[in-house]
Amino acid sequence: MNEEKIDNCKNNIYDHLIAEEKNKHSVYCTKCPSKILPSTLGKHMNIEFNLPHMSQKKNCESIECELLSDYWMVPDMYMFDNIGFSKPIESGLKYLICADCEIGPIGWYDDKTKQSYVALSRVKHAEDS
Ligand SMILES: [Zn+2]
Repeated sequence: MNEEKIDNCKNNIYDHLIAEEKNKHSVYCTKCPSKILPSTLGKHMNIEFNLPHMSQKKNCESIECELLSDYWMVPDMYMFDNIGFSKPIESGLKYLICADCEIGPIGWYDDKTKQSYVALSRVKHAEDS
């Protein structure tokens, strides 16, 4: 896992979602109405991580990954409203999936630090209703 922070000088396309480094809006699943994370509980971080594409066929031989670098870091899994976990993938890592429809991965969970990382591009952001 590459946890090196990258300097990001260009304008961030997610700027409008971030207020004081936190998620301005609540985070929802893109495929179902499940609420994943309440507003302000995730901290925006630039970390490069190769996340497999969503909705891939199971038992596919080659896993295609996408290098994503914008994540909400959630320090405690109990801060989530709803979240699911995949089976462990490698030394203490699990993928995050929607607790209701199981779409994913939408991020990853590190068992060593107990921190979760939700990819901004894999979730929906909306005001609290
Ligand atoms: Zn869902």
